Amino acid sequence: MSCKEVVELVTDYFEGVLPAEDTRRFEQHIEDCVWCARYLEQMRLTINTVGRIDEVSISPAAKDSLLHAFRDWSAERQSS
Ligand SMILES: [Zn+2]
Repeated sequence: MSCKEVVELVTDYFEGVLPAEDTRRFEQHIEDCVWCARYLEQMRLTINTVGRIDEVSISPAAKDSLLHAFRDWSAERQSS
């Protein structure tokens, strides 16, 4: 699973509607990826605060900046 997929599936994950196989791949990615782990934690805090997943919308702009962060991070990793 890619970071992009994680971002796209995160609401399904919290809603509990993600198929078991995808959930497994999702959680496996979270264990290996610090960015997605942070993102997931942030989402969890937001959901705890708001109380409802359906009120937590991920705007396209937020998604874009997140994916840019992922890309910059992987570029940094490759150069170091
Ligand atoms: Zn990731």
